[in-house]
Amino acid sequence: MHDPGQLGSLHLNRFQLEPAVFAAPGRVNLIGEHTDYAEGFVMPAAINFATLAGISPRSDGKIAIYSENFHEERTFDAAALPVKRSGHWSDYAIGVAYVFAGEGYRIPGFSLSLWGDVPLGSGLSSSASVEVATALAIESLIGASYPGPLLARLCQRAENQFVGASSGIMDQFISIHGKENHALLLDCRDLSYKMAPIPDRVALVIANTMVKHSVAGGDYPTRRRESEAACAVIARHRPEVKFLRDATLEDLECWGHEMEPKALMRARHIISENLRTVAAADALLNGDLKELGRLMAEAHWSYSRDFEASCVEADAMVELAADLPGLIGARLTGGGFGGCTVNLVERNEAEAFAAKLGERYAARIGIIPEMHICRASAGAHRVA
Ligand code: ADP
Ligand code: MG
Repeated sequence: MHDPGQLGSLHLNRFQLEPAVFAAPGRVNLIGEHTDYAEGFVMPAAINFATLAGISPRSDGKIAIYSENFHEERTFDAAALPVKRSGHWSDYAIGVAYVFAGEGYRIPGFSLSLWGDVPLGSGLSSSASVEVATALAIESLIGASYPGPLLARLCQRAENQFVGASSGIMDQFISIHGKENHALLLDCRDLSYKMAPIPDRVALVIANTMVKHSVAGGDYPTRRRESEAACAVIARHRPEVKFLRDATLEDLECWGHEMEPKALMRARHIISENLRTVAAADALLNGDLKELGRLMAEAHWSYSRDFEASCVEADAMVELAADLPGLIGARLTGGGFGGCTVNLVERNEAEAFAAKLGERYAARIGIIPEMHICRASAGAHRVA
């Protein structure tokens, strides 16, 4: 995380007032992919990359938003907030103001400075970290104090409705509720959660494949449609099954033959992934890292073979990690078709692991990957 003091002086120089400063982390999902919209389980951890937001009031009715990452400032009228995205980085912050206004708050003028070290657009959710840091900043200004899950929903609405990106609740939720040296098992049905300890000696090594494939026909909507079709088949026999979260592997044995082959495969991934995600939290709670590693490997190959959401590069990144010293578990994380793998690695081996994996990947794929050695970190908070 960047130095909050530095953001403070930067804000003071630009806006002539000492800001209140808030930090919100990015995240990595350890296990539980494409389970959120099936009302299932995910298990992310917040990481030690964060966005800082500094805020101070203004008396001229303007909202000025400055990003040190973009070296750019945008100004808005607090009394006439935009109602839809402009395709600019400021959408994420102004979207949060827009959602607060929708809650009935009068949004006063303010100056907001943003500065983050979450890599932008790498799948580590810099967007949620901007939203959550901004939400805490605006809350402090308007005297609001939402319970965490409601604040997460509010930030999700900024991303879904204002920015126009369809994302689940995980990113905002973990950015708010993250805890040092813990992963968070989240039940996407009712937003209940429990923390599972990650031992201090374990590092999260995030390996960016540097590729993002787009799939003909649209990857995310297609997968979602296929899994909903599978769920509908099961629901014909068991009406109490509303989402794949409610279905079992036995359901697939009984009625899988009535499904399109692809729908069956997608459902098999989601149903088994829910089981694995809950089991992974138990493994952490029991200190059974070997079992966790096994579940992560199984999750990766289920994601790759049944969900067909991996790619040559991500499969290579997972395969090439398998026999490196210190590895506990590796899998592709995030929406799929590229992006990052997450590797749980003994911390004393993490540097060597990252270097060696980078070399191997470059030799096989011809691209130098970005590597981040992270630790599970605290959720959003006020820093100054
Ligand atoms: P990810 O969330 O995986 O990093 P997204 O495309 O969802 O990728 O979000 C990245 C976008 O969020 C950036 O392009 C930018 O618009 C916005 N953003 C992230 N961090 C900052 C920042 N520090 N300052 C301004 N905008 C930011
Ligand atoms: Mg994002």
